[in-house]
Amino acid sequence: MNFRVGNGIDCHKLVPNKKLILGGVLVDSNLGLEGHSDGDAVIHAIVDSMLGALSLGDIGTFFPSEDEQWENANSSIFLKFAHKKINEFDFIVNNIDITIILQSPSLKKYIYDIRNNISNLLNINIDCISVKATTTDKLGFIGENKGLVALVSTLLVNNGN
Ligand code: ZN
Repeated sequence: MNFRVGNGIDCHKLVPNKKLILGGVLVDSNLGLEGHSDGDAVIHAIVDSMLGALSLGDIGTFFPSEDEQWENANSSIFLKFAHKKINEFDFIVNNIDITIILQSPSLKKYIYDIRNNISNLLNINIDCISVKATTTDKLGFIGENKGLVALVSTLLVNNGN
C-alpha cells in the first residue's frame, strides 16, 4: 500500500480570558479556546487525521483529557508524537489540508504564519501545508462566536523503504 488518507475534526468552545492559539500561532482575539491542553483545535485535528491515516485511534487514545499532565500543554507535543508514529510506520506526510471554521476574528493575516509554523514543526515544505478559513455566515454556534471547528485531511505516502 503506497498511500493512506486520514481526516480529523475538532471543536472547541470560545471563552473570555483564554488565548486563541491556532496551529501554534497566537491570534489576537478577546476570546480564546477552552479545553484540553492549550485548546489548539487545528493541531488536535491534524493529530487525529494523522492517527486516523495509520488506524491508531485518536488523540485521546494517547493523551487522555482526564490526565492532568496535559493540562495547558503545548499541543505541538501531540503533533510531534503523531509525526513520529508516521515515520515509525515508514510513511511520510505528502500534504495536509486544513479548514478553520470561525466567525471572527478574520484569520487572513495569520494564514501564512500557521502554514509556516506547521511546516517547521513537521520539517516539511510549506507548499505541502494548506490552511483555509471560512465562517458560517453568522449561523449557529460558530456564527455566534461560541466556538470554532477545525477540519483536516492528511495524505501519507510510503517513504519507499
Ligand atoms: Zn481539541
